[in-house]
Amino acid sequence: MHKIAVGGLLTTTGLLTLTAAPAAADVRQAPDCAEVECVALTFDDGPGEHTDELLDMLDEHDAKATFYVLGSKIDAYTDVVRRMVDQDHEVGNHTWDHADLATLSADQIKDDLKRTDQAIERATGQVPATMRPPYGSLDDTARGAIDKPMLLWDVDTLDWQHRDPAKTVDITTRETGQGSVVLFHDIHKTSVEAIPEVLDRLSDEGYEFVTVSEMMGSDMVGGTAYSDARSMD
Ligand SMILES: [Zn+2]
Repeated sequence: MHKIAVGGLLTTTGLLTLTAAPAAADVRQAPDCAEVECVALTFDDGPGEHTDELLDMLDEHDAKATFYVLGSKIDAYTDVVRRMVDQDHEVGNHTWDHADLATLSADQIKDDLKRTDQAIERATGQVPATMRPPYGSLDDTARGAIDKPMLLWDVDTLDWQHRDPAKTVDITTRETGQGSVVLFHDIHKTSVEAIPEVLDRLSDEGYEFVTVSEMMGSDMVGGTAYSDARSMD
């Protein structure tokens, strides 16, 4: 009971603040994942030719997601990356061109991530808060060289492998739990095709779709790897 009372008080305070500051009216009020079930849908290796359509689908559900983009692809899709941020999605760093970080030196890793950060910042005005290592591949050198929280996943849809929307829906709905981070690749048409049903089914189960930073945010520590919100405990 005490917890609910405190939550109510915070919400009231937040609303009062919004009323007092008109410029803040557009600021998203993210769901409180301590009170409701949250899931973070994540999309890797884009942006690509299907990403804009995916953004339409997410917008229809008012669902927020996280995009781990490749720096090398940003120039061709600047408007799409900007749209991600405009729609309150999160843009994360997935390296310049999908290097296996376990094969690089610390300096090479830092240069790669910095170049990618700069491309994202040029497109969106924001420096990414989190990164995801390609293939989930990290060694001690990489762990020591990376100063952002490193986001892995607990639900792997294997969408890139089977390219079957029904399978993507099935794995996602079967394996998702409170605080899950689900891995998709928005460069594949078949992955994007799965998303309306993923949103419908998980929404029916009561899930709220939030970004990884909304779900795990202030508790994440730079240089630490996380697979889901349960790994925070
Ligand atoms: Zn990737």
